[in-house]
Amino acid sequence: MPTSVFSQLDKSLHEHLSDLMRLAAKADDRTAVGLARTELPRMVSALKALLDEHQPDENGRCPTCRTRRFSRRLPSPCRAYLAAHLCLTITRDEDRVARSETSGRRPNHLRSAG
Ligand SMILES: [Zn+2]
Repeated sequence: MPTSVFSQLDKSLHEHLSDLMRLAAKADDRTAVGLARTELPRMVSALKALLDEHQPDENGRCPTCRTRRFSRRLPSPCRAYLAAHLCLTITRDEDRVARSETSGRRPNHLRSAG
């Protein structure tokens, strides 16, 4: 059945993403660095491929999500595009807040490299 094949694909993708989230949060530094080196480029590639599909045209409309039903709405990037931007921007802001809340200024992670 095609449905179960697709749901299996979807499930394994989400499990993979959950594993990455769990490892990013809980793994030791060495594992986290290795994870970043191997997985980050893959994540960026995946995100770029998705964004390419949803790149707004010169009027701000998404060529992939554009439907006749929505053609009268004001031009704006589609939800997929906006969601990607929001996720990346919000994560960066939270990181900034978390870093400044911990103990003022911490030396960065260079100390473990020497
Ligand atoms: Zn789109």
